[in-house]
Parts: sequence; C-alpha cells; structure tokens
Amino acid sequence: MKSPSPAEQTQAAVERAHEHVLDYVRLVHGRRVAPDAMALAGLNHLDEPLPRTGCGAERVLDLLHEWGSPATTATTGGRFFGLVVGGSLPASMGAAMLNAAWDQVAILDAVAPSAIYLERLAARWVLDLLGLPAGSSVGFSTGSSMANFIGLAAARHTLYGRLGVDIHESGMSRTPPLRVVLSEQAHVTVIKALHLLGLGTRQFTFVPCDEQGRMRADALPTLGPETIVCLQAGNVNSGASDPFSEIVSVARAQGAWVHVDGAFGLWAAASPALRPQVMGMDGADSWTVDAHKWLNTPYDCGLAICRNPLAVHAAMSTVAPYLQAGHQAAPKDMVTEFSRRARGVEVWAGIKQLGRDGVINLLDRTCGHARTLATGLREMGFEILNEVVLNQVVASIGPPELTEELARTVQAQGECWFGTTVWRGRSAIRLSVASWATTDADIQRTLAAIGTALHRCRPQTRGVSPT
Ligand SMILES: *Cc1c(COP(=O)(O)O)cnc(C)c1O
Repeated sequence: MKSPSPAEQTQAAVERAHEHVLDYVRLVHGRRVAPDAMALAGLNHLDEPLPRTGCGAERVLDLLHEWGSPATTATTGGRFFGLVVGGSLPASMGAAMLNAAWDQVAILDAVAPSAIYLERLAARWVLDLLGLPAGSSVGFSTGSSMANFIGLAAARHTLYGRLGVDIHESGMSRTPPLRVVLSEQAHVTVIKALHLLGLGTRQFTFVPCDEQGRMRADALPTLGPETIVCLQAGNVNSGASDPFSEIVSVARAQGAWVHVDGAFGLWAAASPALRPQVMGMDGADSWTVDAHKWLNTPYDCGLAICRNPLAVHAAMSTVAPYLQAGHQAAPKDMVTEFSRRARGVEVWAGIKQLGRDGVINLLDRTCGHARTLATGLREMGFEILNEVVLNQVVASIGPPELTEELARTVQAQGECWFGTTVWRGRSAIRLSVASWATTDADIQRTLAAIGTALHRCRPQTRGVSPT
C-alpha cells in the first residue's frame, strides 16, 4: 500500500483535530470549570517511557482529546474568574487555527507578508482604541511580562544614551546606576523584568499607595534624567489605576522615563465610561497591555508599545539600528523573539469581529457583571474590600482558613473558579470578570455556587441564603 503523502497526512490530522475541537467547544460552556479528580487521574494514561516508534497523527490527537481535554480548566466557558484573564473570542480562536495552518515565521515582511501586514493593522487599531500616539512602536510579545521587559529595555537604553553611555557597548559594569521609582503595588513581573535588565532592588524606590492601591502622587520622590518611573493601570486586586494626570507630566518634566504596566487595566482607555480612570496615561513613554486578558484573544499575546519607535529599535534590533523616519520596523526589531508566531493576527481578528462598539461593550459589560457580583456577595455577608471601579471584586468573609476553604469548596464543586488573595492584610476571594462569554446567568450561577459553598463551610453564617 502506498503511504500517504505529506498533504494527505496533514489533511487527515487537521480533520481529526477539527472534530475534537468542535466537540470541545460544544461542551465547554456547560461543563464543570475545574476538572474533577477522575479527569486529572486520566492524564496518567499519557504517561509512558519515550516511545521508540511513533504512531499516526490521528491517534495522537485522539489521545490528546480523550485524556487532555477533560483535564483542562474551562477558561473559555464564562465562569472562570481567576488571574484577570479572559476567554477567547470566536474570531480570534478561529484565526489561531488558521494561523497554525499558515505557520508563518513572522520575522520579516519578505517571509510572512500577510501575517505582518495584519499585525500592523492590529497595531494601528489598538493604538486607536487606547488613544495612544499613532506613530508608536507596537511589538506583539508573549505577554505583559515580556512587554514590560521590552518597554523597560527601551527605557534603560534611552536613559543611558542620554547620559552618554551606550549600554550595549559598555554593559552594566561601571555604568552610573539608574534609579527606578515604582509603586509598592507594582506587579511582580515588572520587578522580574527590571532584575533581568540588571537593575537591582537596591536601586528601587517604592512609593506608598492609597487604600485602593493607587500610587500616592504626594509621596513621589524627586526624579531625574536617570530615573524610570513604573506606573500601573489596573491593580490586579482592586482594579484601580495610578493617578497618571498628577504624575506623568511631572515625571517627564524632570527628565524621567515613564512606563505604564496596563496588562489588563489599560483597556479601560477604550471605553468612554472607564477612560477617566486612566486619564493622563497617554503622556507616558511606554505601555504594556495584554491581548490575552481583557481583549479575549488566545495565549500568548501581549503588546509592547513605545512612543518613540527608535528607542525600542535601538534596544531590540539585531542589526545596527537603521530605522529611518516613516519606515516600518520589522517585528524582530520590536520584540525579543527572532523567529516568532504572528500572534497579532488573532488581535486583528478579535477587533475586526467586535469593532470599536463591541470592544466598549465587552469592557462595560464585564464591569457591570463585577458590580452585580459585588452586590450579591455583600447581601450574603461578604465585605467588599475594593471600590468596584473596574472588573475586579475583592471580597472578605473572615479568617484565611475560611477564605481558603470556601475557594477550595467552590473550585471542587466545579460551578465556577476564582482564587484567593490578601488585600491590605486581609484574606479575601478575588473575582475578575474578563470573559466575553460570561452571561447574566453565569453570574447568577456563580453567586448561587458561592452561597452553597459558604453554607457548607460555615453553616451558621448570618444572612446566607443557601440557594
Ligand atoms: C497579568 C499581569 C502582568 C503579567 O502579564 P503576563 O501576560 O501574564 O505576562 C503584568 N502586570 C499586570 C498588572 C498583570 O495583571
């Protein structure tokens, strides 16, 4: 028998994958959110010594679906409220599948014309949605961790350049130290990025925050041309943003570089109702935002945005910086990766599906759900620890043991998923509503599940309706 050609093999595999994907997405909205113990145990079926001989691609996909699919967390189903991440917009999920078939290596226009063309369109639309300067550099990175790294690398390169030091030439030894001013609520990935860039904790000045986790403008130290200021749009607990209007222009007037980590919260800028919360952020030098969080594109996709494209280019280019005015940089010179997936295609697809109105609706609707959750939780006896200004709810019911037990009980029950946090010294549950797929019914089911679990954990709780 003639063995199948590469084309036949690929078609057969894609057909099988298509069947399994359809089966998965059909079930995901109704199934439990966290996999149960049996589903997790099923993974053991995949555990074997490195096979000496291979098997057909279809068999591989069958195994993945049979044992892998049930042990996923249903993040696309509308009742996953963990980690400030969203689900996956239909057009973006579909585009990711097509993108896999295209298999473009999105380094240079010459080798991935359509992919890079689409990424540039997506970049333009994102700048428009966020109200950021049209000429900014937009690099599609793996997420905000890497986008923070890119923005801060541009900052480091630029500030040293102004001090007359070429950091690529001299390295970090015997260079005058930079100073980093960041809020005591800065995200851990900002600190990781700074460490990777050779900037140590001793060079950091942590600025105190108010009770919502916003940097206190009145506590800002004197800044200078050797300072990077890291601000935040969207605190991972409270959802609050730093007072950009009060800090950004002051910082830049003193010669500092201002970087904004807005992994999920920067999207607030796209909604007229939410934009006041991030007013003034557009005056910064660099910004980070994730598409895979509130915009609901698949992983992994963050955006590294920089006002001065030359600053990113100088820090990231693999050749001597050559970028001329009006010239578009190649992706490889705007991000850390060289060979890379054209993840921006899925951003284009998501925004094309929603349009500006759809993006606004997604943002406003999820914030509305968060307010409904807060009201329902308060009625159950929770204390809401944050002002629910965005899509985040931090709710306290008592001591850490009860909080943990409640979260575990809800997760085990499978109706919804959220995690716990500590906010200003108090243990709490944290719910982030960031999925386009979350419906009013999902919110009601979530409240009911929390009520049931609470009754189980603390049957004597006052004011609890164990629905
Ligand atoms: C999620 C998050 C990050 C890290 O982003 P990744 O995409 O997970 O790398 C950074 N900052 C904030 C505020 C976040 O919410």
